[in-house]
Amino acid sequence: MASHKIFLSSPTMHGEEQKFVQEAFDTNWIAPLGPNVDAFEKEMAAYMGIGHAAALSAGTAAIHLAVRILDIHEGDVVFCQSMTFSASCNPAAYERATLVFIDSEQDTWNMDPKALEKAFEKYPHPKAVIPVHLYGTPAKIDEIMDICNAHNVPVIEDAAEGLGSSFGDKKLGTFGAFGILSFNGNKIITTSGGGMLISEDEAAIRKARFLATQARDPAPYYQHSTIGYNYRMSNVTAGIGRGQLLHLDEHMARKNAIYDEYRKAFADVPAITMNPMNPKGHANNWLSCMTIAPDCKVSPYTIMDNLAAANIESRLIWKPMHLQPVYEKCDYITANGTRQNPVNGAGSVCEDIFNRGLCLPSDIKNSEEDMQEIIDIVKNCF
Ligand SMILES: *Cc1c(COP(=O)(O)O)cnc(C)c1O
Repeated sequence: MASHKIFLSSPTMHGEEQKFVQEAFDTNWIAPLGPNVDAFEKEMAAYMGIGHAAALSAGTAAIHLAVRILDIHEGDVVFCQSMTFSASCNPAAYERATLVFIDSEQDTWNMDPKALEKAFEKYPHPKAVIPVHLYGTPAKIDEIMDICNAHNVPVIEDAAEGLGSSFGDKKLGTFGAFGILSFNGNKIITTSGGGMLISEDEAAIRKARFLATQARDPAPYYQHSTIGYNYRMSNVTAGIGRGQLLHLDEHMARKNAIYDEYRKAFADVPAITMNPMNPKGHANNWLSCMTIAPDCKVSPYTIMDNLAAANIESRLIWKPMHLQPVYEKCDYITANGTRQNPVNGAGSVCEDIFNRGLCLPSDIKNSEEDMQEIIDIVKNCF
């Protein structure tokens, strides 16, 4: 058993973070806004190659503000990738929108453009579409954008897990009308908690900052003409983010190496397939995942239990949103319009991946011995 716990993905700090935080302390610029917030927004926008960014308290807050700025409310239809973390779709539910969940394809595990077309046949006028770049693998974002542009529907691109990944020569998050980033504790870089809304639309980002600071009208007293939120990132948190951003590419290289090591190690186990890469892009490999062949009797739970017994954390694939008790009344659309899976007939593509998949420990602080121990335990299950 490992002498220490091996995590799925935990924060990795370097030292520069403390320098920026110290500056905030030295100038007594602890909260709320300040130079670190402004600089973090500028530095992230430059890294992403996009015009504007608003630093916020969470990625979830970023999605909520995109939903508010697009004026989504009760009765509006919003399409969202079903296989994702609940934060992708919850903000549309906050505004009482009607969520319609879209199946994934096997090539990238993300929103299936064919299922998206089917959804447009049934619901011609959604107010927004929310694709996700799961585990950092780029979705077929070119096809998704073409479909949404043809229907004139804005895209809220959930790049929370895909920070640093690219499609073609553009970073993920820069394709949609809005991109959202997360700096939550287990993401590829972290501020302890935080997120960003990015866009080429300067007025929209200005509005996001306004809504994120309680929507105060320009008046000498506190006056409000709309409902605001307390969603802004603090100057201390932004300092951590500035330090982490200096190491994003290095984190990505480590994550890429972890994925490659698993891929090579499992090459001689025919029942194991690693999560797919998109040949048109470059993934950050935030989490390395595997699936077990449909005809293999090994269950992901067995692997998870064996790893847990050795103090090693793993996690099942995101349970699709259309299977969540809270969203069970929502419609769900697959490529062939039914819930039959072309692969094994047992439900949809995302249900199939959920049933056969597992997220492997992808912590960049894992040593070579840690990796070998994980690999041995997984292989011994087969
Ligand atoms: C982490 C995550 C979010 C939310 O980000 P927070 O910063 O935790 O609010 C949204 N979508 C996906 C797919 C995520 O993984």
